[in-house]
Amino acid sequence: MYYSIRSLLLTLGLSLSMNAAFSQQDQRRDIDFQAMEPFQVFDNLYFVGIKAVASYVIETSAGLILIDTLDGFEGFTDHLLDNIREVGLDPNDIEYVFILQAHRDHYGGARELQSQLNAVFGSAEEDWQVIEDNLGDQAPRRDMVLRDGRSLTLGDTTIHFEHTPGHTPGTTSLQFSVFDDGTEHLAYFHGGSALRTDEPEAIQIFIDDLARIKTIPNIEVQIINHHDIHATGADDLFTRAERLQNRQPGEPHPWVAPNEFQRWLDELIADSYERLAQAQ
Ligand SMILES: [Zn+2]
Repeated sequence: MYYSIRSLLLTLGLSLSMNAAFSQQDQRRDIDFQAMEPFQVFDNLYFVGIKAVASYVIETSAGLILIDTLDGFEGFTDHLLDNIREVGLDPNDIEYVFILQAHRDHYGGARELQSQLNAVFGSAEEDWQVIEDNLGDQAPRRDMVLRDGRSLTLGDTTIHFEHTPGHTPGTTSLQFSVFDDGTEHLAYFHGGSALRTDEPEAIQIFIDDLARIKTIPNIEVQIINHHDIHATGADDLFTRAERLQNRQPGEPHPWVAPNEFQRWLDELIADSYERLAQAQ
């Protein structure tokens, strides 16, 4: 009797946890679950992503730049385009789409977007290779290769590209200016900050890049691609968005937090050195 109840409970527990695993999978693919209201972050920057992953539009005087394309699951691309319209922008004005890392939640929507937009799609060489290896003849068209140290100017806006591998082999990070009611702030967008390699040399390159990013003068704003990538104890993306929404006149913009960005880099460097020690 004891055993049968115990095994019944075990079976129940197992099926409950299996259900939880299934529903997490389902939630990842479920646009109704994932849907987020888009919002304006700065004069020229909009969040148009979903719960699980960000996508942003940078507005310039000569058109729009879309950063990352969400996963390609059913309904996701429509939601992305709806979000862009909802903040008052026209997806037909998208001139460039930059894919910052070769994971599906960032590039999965690219091919469908290419069928709907007349835009130039760019990613780093190494990540184009990953995308093309993963998707074969279903891969999105490769229009442009983002190279370390290069910049692109569209109208009044210049985006600076940096090769920051470690999450994927071709992770691209961006530097660009954001404007808060006309006041300029320099932003840094790390394209993939979770280390995904155990190769000591690759970890060292990741650390060296972070140390170099720390020395870039005047970075005041951190842009993130998943909601919880901030320094320990800092608010997450959506809590911060609420703070922005409730901001009173004269209060600082919640994204303008240079010390927090430096602290985030320090924590990531320390974590990465621990990984390096384990890898050696
Ligand atoms: Zn990733």
